[in-house]
Amino acid sequence: MIQLGNTGVAGQRIKSLLEQQGISTPSVLAAIQDTPRDYFVEEAFALQAWGNQALPIGAGQTISQPYIVARMTELLMQSKPQRVLEIGTGSGYQTAILAQVFPRVYSVERIQALQWQAKRRLKNLDLHNVMMKYGDGWQGWQSKSPFDAIIVTAAPAEVPQALLTQLADGGQLILPLGVESQVLQVITRNGDSYSSQNVENVRFVPLVQGDLA
Ligand code: SAH
Repeated sequence: MIQLGNTGVAGQRIKSLLEQQGISTPSVLAAIQDTPRDYFVEEAFALQAWGNQALPIGAGQTISQPYIVARMTELLMQSKPQRVLEIGTGSGYQTAILAQVFPRVYSVERIQALQWQAKRRLKNLDLHNVMMKYGDGWQGWQSKSPFDAIIVTAAPAEVPQALLTQLADGGQLILPLGVESQVLQVITRNGDSYSSQNVENVRFVPLVQGDLA
């Protein structure tokens, strides 16, 4: 049976690997340790699922590396957000981590088959504080805004304007920015002004603009 917290030695290993890489927030480490990552990849890759690497999830997309999932979650935690929006549900792995750390999670995906699979996985893991939507993440999720935090798990060439306006005052947006080379950026809203900070270089699939798949 699939359940959280049943990951044995594999879970312990990935936790200590991330600790060595500087991840230190206990709730983030616990969520990574407890989440069966092999459940989120195609079966042929299940044996590789516990390594610290990105892997294919179908439709030309990838599940992010556990390190980067943990890092982005940890960065968002600093402002203790209640309502978090994720753009790019993909496999649902990052969504599952967010759901264990934050009270309410909203997630948008533009490939319907991936969204269905992710929804089923979260339900089977008994993670019920997540709402998912099939749609274009460039537009955010207007009717559920404002969000205390927004995390984008695909890389746009420029910051989508809708995401800035759907951020609550004091809220934070974290996203990989750029095409050829990308930098992880944290943008903080202060009333009508926004300040940004570069964190580290990263590599993500592109955030697609326009038509749905
Ligand atoms: N967080 C995911 C990473 C998936 S890769 C995981 O842990 O598995 C990025 C995802 O972003 C892909 O599934 C891709 O289809 C999706 N994506 C790309 N452009 C998008 C857009 N404009 N709106 C919503 N999702 C988008």
